[in-house]
Amino acid sequence: MAVRGRVVISDIFCKGCELCVSACPQQVLEIATDRLTPKGFHPARLKAEGCTGCAICALVCPEAAITVYREVLARPAPAAA
Ligand code: SF4
Ligand code: SF4
Repeated sequence: MAVRGRVVISDIFCKGCELCVSACPQQVLEIATDRLTPKGFHPARLKAEGCTGCAICALVCPEAAITVYREVLARPAPAAA
């Protein structure tokens, strides 16, 4: 079954350290240089499709700012013979 991931990054906790950006094997994270968190940091964000939900970003984040969601995509049932 195919798996698709999605991450939610907390503006409250993210300090823009870029560790998650460097660690993501799919290279789908970036630092949002066009916005600031309430604490004045440029936060990380998803920049593209392709997140697999591997959770490596969440594991390396020193602030526990990332929540990973994984969605298992069901294949359509084979047509009846
Ligand atoms: S869950 Fe994996 S693929 Fe998705 S953003 Fe995090 S490190 Fe990248
Ligand atoms: S590792 Fe955590 S604190 Fe650092 S940029 Fe990524 S989400 Fe923000």
